[in-house]
Amino acid sequence: MEASAGAAASVFTWQQSLQRAVRSTDALLQALGLQQSDVPDADAASAFPLLVPWEFLQRMRRGDPADPLLQQVLPIRQESATVPGFGLDPVGDAGSMVAPGLLHKYQGRVLLIASGACAVHCRYCFRRHYPYDDSPKSQADWEPALVQLREDTSVQEVILSGGDPLSLGNSKLETLVTSLASIPHLQRLRIHTRFPVMIPHRVDAGLIALLQGTRLRTVVVLHINHAQEIDDALALACERLSQAGCLLLNQAVLLRRVNDTLDAQCELSLRLIDVGVVPYYLHHLDRVQGAAHFECSEAQGIALVEGMRARLPGYAVPRFVHERAGEASKSLIR
Ligand SMILES: *Cc1c(COP(=O)(O)O)cnc(C)c1O
Ligand code: SF4
Repeated sequence: MEASAGAAASVFTWQQSLQRAVRSTDALLQALGLQQSDVPDADAASAFPLLVPWEFLQRMRRGDPADPLLQQVLPIRQESATVPGFGLDPVGDAGSMVAPGLLHKYQGRVLLIASGACAVHCRYCFRRHYPYDDSPKSQADWEPALVQLREDTSVQEVILSGGDPLSLGNSKLETLVTSLASIPHLQRLRIHTRFPVMIPHRVDAGLIALLQGTRLRTVVVLHINHAQEIDDALALACERLSQAGCLLLNQAVLLRRVNDTLDAQCELSLRLIDVGVVPYYLHHLDRVQGAAHFECSEAQGIALVEGMRARLPGYAVPRFVHERAGEASKSLIR
């Protein structure tokens, strides 16, 4: 499918888009034509502040308090509830840190927290309590991680995550990728990002040149939860990444009132395939404090994936997984 040329063009740079993103409940509701009384649970004073770019906001349905995109970003009072079993570090990040910002949980691949910043604040984020202030942010801060990587020849793949690694500018990113590419035993670079979804023109000429220029095989893992998130601008961003030689995958989180129906999941998968992105993981919610109201049961997830398998080509059915601290991989539920 051809995305119309120029769909990702914007009068703003991506940095400007991030700067002018909506940061208050009032502004968000006003932009959507909603009254306070339409969303009685909205919380204007959350410790994890609201952040949503206009480019994403424009894909929400005006006047609909149940919009699946709005649900992902609107702070509500239920987030302050203390629910047993929901903690601050649900996947054991703290225990697998082998150098500042470098998490080594699984064989052959490591995850580098390349930046603490994101283009959006997802209310269910499992790293919403992560101590980003203590994380490396510059080439000098990454040096201990790079030293560790040079020494550990068992590692073939580095995953840039965060936060969102594309919140680094192209020049910082290029310095980091060049350092990684100079380590002979590294073969693959993976980028876990929601930036192209939130601000599609983040996929600019500089980023494409950087990705095309590295010797590392590059996999970009997007995070899209609902078909409505995929507009022409995002489709074009995906097309550019594919043309740059990146393999595109998606991870979604199963979320109550966002994508917990068979129709929503099937539409998401088919829409992803149509823009060249393979559904990779459907995550069972990580039990992070503040996100309990998003949780679906495992049984519901299993039923959804089986329903998808009955309706969709095999390649369009994601693996339904859960991360359990201490295990050798994500655990396959179905
Ligand atoms: C999820 C994760 C990975 C990647 O796992 P895959 O199954 O290869 O996608 C790697 N390292 C860490 C620390 C992770 O949390
Ligand atoms: S983009 Fe990813 S890391 Fe950032 S808030 Fe959303 S889920 Fe969390």
